[in-house]
Amino acid sequence: MKKNIAVIRGDGIGPEIVNEALKVLDKVAKKYGHEFNYVDADMGGCAIDKYGDPLPQHELDKCLAADSVLLGAVGGPKWDGVPGNMRPEKGLLRIRAGMGVYSNNRPAKIWKQLADASPLKPEIVEKGIDFIIVRELIGGIYFGEHKTYEEGEKISEDVMKYSESEIERIGRIGFETARKRRKKLCSVEKSNVLDTSRLWKSVMHRLAAEYPDVELSDMLVDNCAMQIVKNPAQFDVIVTENMFGDILSDEASMITGSIGMIPSSSLGATSNGLYEPIHGSAPDIAGQNKANPIGTILSAAMMLRFSFDMPKEADDIENAVSKVLDMGYRTGDIMSEGMKLTGCSEMGTLIADAI
Ligand code: NAD
Repeated sequence: MKKNIAVIRGDGIGPEIVNEALKVLDKVAKKYGHEFNYVDADMGGCAIDKYGDPLPQHELDKCLAADSVLLGAVGGPKWDGVPGNMRPEKGLLRIRAGMGVYSNNRPAKIWKQLADASPLKPEIVEKGIDFIIVRELIGGIYFGEHKTYEEGEKISEDVMKYSESEIERIGRIGFETARKRRKKLCSVEKSNVLDTSRLWKSVMHRLAAEYPDVELSDMLVDNCAMQIVKNPAQFDVIVTENMFGDILSDEASMITGSIGMIPSSSLGATSNGLYEPIHGSAPDIAGQNKANPIGTILSAAMMLRFSFDMPKEADDIENAVSKVLDMGYRTGDIMSEGMKLTGCSEMGTLIADAI
């Protein structure tokens, strides 16, 4: 199969981790006779330096024309002082909106080899952590009107808005995802306070009638934040709005050990998806061959599974990661006693070789 992949290396550790993911994709292409063509696109700080814009239209167009997009990470202290609408992270919001990817899918799964890295008590970890957060990605407060004005003092407003159709399309992704797993969907909102959450809850319950095989439950977001650390084994699929999902998925990533291990996919109505690790550009370790490339490599595996319909190839990558962890290789962020400290590029080579 022939596929065009737009590659956004970005800033900080972005170029290093993306290189390793491409190494692994090249190995998969060789083994299965596929042809992956990479088209470089600039986004984030590097695009600001080059074009004065975190995501110029011509770079977004490359992503829209591709079969899928692989992204490293963007941002860094060099661009902290630039105005809000020109920040590297604006590129992230723009690419999500431009591609129309309204659903972000983040697995929170503990690798048995890294169980010690979880900050939770062993008796909680032993029960298993394996759930997915389905987060609405292009609506809600992040995309509502933002303004700051003077009325004797400074006042700021951020508008949180959701329509029934926006809730319904993400709700369906939640139900469909649960259907392919353990058939339990937890809808998370703040319906004791927010109108948007009351609408959210009513749409989820309306949809539930169409998915009688899926067990739907409701949870307030503050309770969910507690339950994720107290009893994560209870969750199969969580579906929630943009800001709640942003916060809960970072919390979920912490309980599984390293932020460097976790991939994500963002999809909309077409198969052209955006695949990226959940971490940022880690400027503190950039350019030192210290970054963990596994989150990006597993994001590439998700791309094969969800956008290219290549489940065997995706399984191969995930099994290769497991094999390399079994062999005791660890980057600094997941290092523990008795294991072999490995650099970013060596980790990529080991995983590619294990395919
Ligand atoms: P971060 O995720 O970049 O780093 C947090 C900590 O985790 C750091 O100590 C870092 O060294 C470590 N870390 C992250 N990824 C790692 C990896 N693959 N291997 C080993 N260690 C890893 O978060 P931050 O420090 O809050 O943000 C740094 C920059 O990244 C900021 O400019 C921020 O805006 C940006 N950011 C970008 C994205 C994105 O591109 N999607 C997401 C979050 C933050």
